[in-house]
Amino acid sequence: MSTSLAPYHALVWLRDDLRTDDHPALTEAIRLARQHNGRVTAVYILDEALWSRPLGGASRWWLHHSLAALADDLQRLGVPLVLRQGDLRQQLADVVRQGSVQAVLCNRGQTPFLRRCEAAAREALEPLGCPLLAGGGELMVEPDKILTGSGQPYRVFTPFWKALSQHHQPKAPLPEPEALGPGVAPVISGLTLASLALLPSTPDWAGGLRKSWQPGQAGARRCLDAFLQGSVARYGSQRDFPAQPATSRLSPHLRFGELSPRRLWDAVIALHGADGMPFLREVGWREFNHHLLFQWPEMATVPLKPEFTRFPWRDDQREFQRWCRGLTGFPIVDAGQRELWQTGWMHNRVRMIVASFLVKDLLLPWQWGEEWMWDTLVDACPANNPGNWQWVSGCGADAAPYFRVFNPSLQAAKFDSDGLYQRRWVPESAAPGDDLFAAASTRRRYPLPMLDHGAARDRALAALASLKPDP
Ligand code: FAD
Repeated sequence: MSTSLAPYHALVWLRDDLRTDDHPALTEAIRLARQHNGRVTAVYILDEALWSRPLGGASRWWLHHSLAALADDLQRLGVPLVLRQGDLRQQLADVVRQGSVQAVLCNRGQTPFLRRCEAAAREALEPLGCPLLAGGGELMVEPDKILTGSGQPYRVFTPFWKALSQHHQPKAPLPEPEALGPGVAPVISGLTLASLALLPSTPDWAGGLRKSWQPGQAGARRCLDAFLQGSVARYGSQRDFPAQPATSRLSPHLRFGELSPRRLWDAVIALHGADGMPFLREVGWREFNHHLLFQWPEMATVPLKPEFTRFPWRDDQREFQRWCRGLTGFPIVDAGQRELWQTGWMHNRVRMIVASFLVKDLLLPWQWGEEWMWDTLVDACPANNPGNWQWVSGCGADAAPYFRVFNPSLQAAKFDSDGLYQRRWVPESAAPGDDLFAAASTRRRYPLPMLDHGAARDRALAALASLKPDP
């Protein structure tokens, strides 16, 4: 609310950008406040009714801890964090009135949900005469900027990546702004973090997550530093082997914006130059999926290839539950699900095997798998999750061909040949030293394989043959 008598007050509205580094909105708000000898408050508003679907359980756990860490980081800069819950329009308007706020600043949202939030916020702020200043963003490049020669969005990754890496390199990241002053108490009322009820209580299933992760910007930096000093050099050759700690594990930090992709790009190039490109190419998939989501907002439920809406999916909840619980009798699939249960994360190679098993061996809808991972992954992402599920299923952009059906045993033999990963997560599947792949019939406490892969493959190919591309 603009009143010339009140001291200048800028509000930073946070969403999926829970950091202080490379944060255009926070930097600009502090600049404005310094210029006007005023103050800055940050606000996070949890409006679940506005979400297209509620956050999954693992994401809620992450969000709680990420907000706790962010409150401390902001406090160091002299910016209090106010938490609110409920209707975004009402809450934002109330915060602006209570704090006599002159301007609301946010990093521009690039997912359909965040853009919807921005439209709602503008509606709420207009009658108050308070502008919403949206700049920057959470991607390396604006999603409508990378287009083919004929002005269309890319549907194939390789040319997209070529265009991005050669012609649209991300802007340099901004440093964390200097503190505005010592920590101050908020002049706007807010809720406690506990009252947002983001954590699981009965039962508290998050013990494994607590052991595995440090949500927040400091955790992201620690993860990034460890990766830059260690695995990045062997990333290209080892990233497919789930027993190796060869990938960055940065995905949940990127998902919640604790690390910006611009900072990531900059840090990798500064330390490793062109040797970092195999890694950045994978980060390019994140960008690609977000650009796809921008063009196809229904990507989480609707196949990008329309003929797949007629695919003869099966409807077997009992088999789906065996898959979810890691009881398929295929150790590599079950190990992936157990890793997910315990840590909220699964190695990328194993995600592909597990997903292929659901859609091709079991012939169950990819949307079920997408929903399952949405609930259980700490990095559950509105773009990467459906993008990858559509890719594995053969119905997405630049998707794996449907006739390429992963053989779980061969995948295990190739990428976990000594069974280290499988034994770690499914110790009952074989005694140490057993041949994991031959031991199926002698296993005691572990289920027999729930299907014959060869027969399942034939069934999947027959189902595919029933589809004709839409004219
Ligand atoms: P690294 O190999 O270190 O890669 C660095 C970053 O690049 C990742 O953090 C991620 O942001 C990005 N990236 C890497 N591979 C991919 C990819 N294939 N697609 C998109 N971005 C990628 N990733 C998510 O972030 N959220 C999801 O919800 C998600 N769901 C998936 C579901 C399925 C079925 C599959 C097959 C993959 C999914 N992925 C998802 C992609 C990928 O598995 C994870 O990004 C990766 O395993 C995260 O681990 P990392 O950070 O160590 O990756």
